[in-house]
Order: sequence, then C-alpha cells, then structure tokens
Amino acid sequence: MYNLAIIVCAFIFAFTSYQPAEVGANTFTAKQVRLGDNLLSILRQNGFSEKQREQVIAADKGLRTLFLTLDTRYLIRTTPTETELRIFDSQTSQAFRVLKKGARVEASSYQPKFTVKHTKAEGRVYGSLMGSLMAKVNSNWVATRFMDAYVFDMAHSRDVVRGARFSFTVERLYEANQFIKYGEVLNTSLDIRGIAVQKKFVRYKDGGVFFSAQDLLENRPFFAPVEYIKIASRFKPNRLHPITGRVQPHLGIDFELPVGDPVFAPRKGIIVRYGNNRAAGNFIVLLHSNGMETSYNHLHKIDKRIRQGLKVSAGEKIGEVGCTGYCTRAHLHFAVKKKGRMVDPVKYIKAYPPQMERYLEERVASN
Ligand SMILES: [Zn+2]
Repeated sequence: MYNLAIIVCAFIFAFTSYQPAEVGANTFTAKQVRLGDNLLSILRQNGFSEKQREQVIAADKGLRTLFLTLDTRYLIRTTPTETELRIFDSQTSQAFRVLKKGARVEASSYQPKFTVKHTKAEGRVYGSLMGSLMAKVNSNWVATRFMDAYVFDMAHSRDVVRGARFSFTVERLYEANQFIKYGEVLNTSLDIRGIAVQKKFVRYKDGGVFFSAQDLLENRPFFAPVEYIKIASRFKPNRLHPITGRVQPHLGIDFELPVGDPVFAPRKGIIVRYGNNRAAGNFIVLLHSNGMETSYNHLHKIDKRIRQGLKVSAGEKIGEVGCTGYCTRAHLHFAVKKKGRMVDPVKYIKAYPPQMERYLEERVASN
C-alpha cells in the first residue's frame, strides 16, 4: 500500500509537471516565418503601427541584425490589452521579446532556455542527397547541416550512389511548449563510396564541429580558421553567373558565421598583407612555412596587433567575422594559394580549429 501511494504520487507529479506553463488567454501560439518576412513585416502583420515598429527597432540594436529563415517560428500571445511577440534569431541562440501595451511598446533581447527534444531520421538517397534529406525532415537548415558534416569527406557528388543509406539525429527546440526551430544535427551516418561514415557533433565553447576519429589522422597542412563550420558557398573555379552567364569563379570557401565570431590563424605564419579594399573589405593575408598563402576577407575587425611581418602561431585570433566589402550576409571568405594558384581550401584544411585538437584527442582516448 505504501509502495502504491508512492507510485500514485509519482504519476500525479508526472502529469502535473507536463501541464503547459501558460494557459488560457496567456497562451502563446507559434507562427511560421514566411517567404519575404522580416521583423518589420511580422510586426505589421501583428498590428504594430509604423511608429510602434520604429520604436521596436530603436529599442535594441540587436533587432537590426536579426536573421530570420523559413525554418524558424516565432511566438505570439494576445490579450485584449497587450500583444507579446517572442522572435528567435535563426543563426544564433539570441531571442527578442517585444511587448505592446496600448500605445506603448517595449523590446529587449534575452537568452531563451529551450526545451530540447530529439528526432531520429533515416533513409536512402534517391535523386539528390539534399532532396532525400529534406524528404525526411523538411528543413533547409537540417539538410545543410548534414551536408556540412561531410564537407571534408566528399570530393564529388558521385561518391554518394543511388540507394546510399543515411541517418541523423537532430535537436528540436521548444519554448512555451511550442516548437521553435531545429537545433544541431548531432549524429550522422552516410554511405560514401559504399562505407558508412559516421560523424558526431562535438560542442566547443559557442561552436562545435562534426568529427570522427578518422579526422585526427588526416594529414592536411592547415587547421580550420573558425570554431563552427557552416558552409555557405564552396570553391567553384568555373562558376557561371546565373544572370550574365559569364564565368565568375568563387576561389575560396565561405564560412557562414555571425558578425564578431573569432577568426584564427590555421597554421604558424607571417602577416604579408592586410588592409581594406572595395571588394574584400577588411582582409588579411598570411604566408606559411610550407610556401602556401591563406587569406581572410570581409572581416568586421582586424586584430589591433596585426602589422606586416608579425609572426602568428596556429590558433591565434587574427580578426573577427564581418560583412565588409562586397558582402550581403556576414561570412568569412577563406582562400588558399599554392604555387601562385588558388586551390580548393577543403582539401587542405582539417575539420577542426587548432585549439580543439587536444580536446578531440582526449575524447578519442577516453572512448
Ligand atoms: Zn567567398
């Protein structure tokens, strides 16, 4: 009887703890960000006047760089007297609370404490890998992150044949009992040239990389110059411009990161050039002992210590990611020059930055 009482109590506790925190008029509902939406259009759709929209933008400067994609939802709560919005940046962990009470508006940033759930998906590749992934979880973010896991392993799309198996686990992030967005893809497996290659997402500080023990054995001359590897655009020496049809090569790789993220020297080197120009924005060029050059464009800031001839060691911070020069969205354009020719950086860099090497080695050793 005593045992039964405990069990019953446990059940009551379990059920009550699953009750939504907000009920009735205070309940949030989630809305999808739609094509073409930005903060202003979302405010307009939810009854904010032009003046109120301006007040919101002026209240927190983070709102001006808010980055929204179709993969993210926002929350809305309305009562007869007030409207509250919670808007989540798609690229960072940042969120904003916007409150309208009568004519008054308030807006501020906050760090959301998401409830995390996991989803596992598996399938086979028919048609494109990207399309096959999206058929399982309809999210551009998730499919792109999966591709990021294999950026250093896949030289050609033909490495993944028809019928190749894939699987992954991804985080689902909730606030106020509503699904907001997908988080990190945590575990992946993909048949490459017939062999299942498994990766784990290893968190490190604010970033993290996709990793397999095999990656430690790769004998590549450079480490990654960033702590979070998300590829926005790859090396394409013969890229055709979609409108002009002219060859407009992309001679580096673009790492998509928020403004201010650190950029590290990927190997010991010496600063041969740095400065600012119209196309590259703030840039740095490093020369390394193996005779190769690496360059970094669109930097928000060049580290104050940087001067011509300065020696830097692997893992030293040299600047910050930004969007200076010809740039529409913050990223690091990273290029590698070998014997006077630009080469594909992914063939020359490891899957992780220098400061993570020891940490990853320890993880492998403890397994
Ligand atoms: Zn680029």
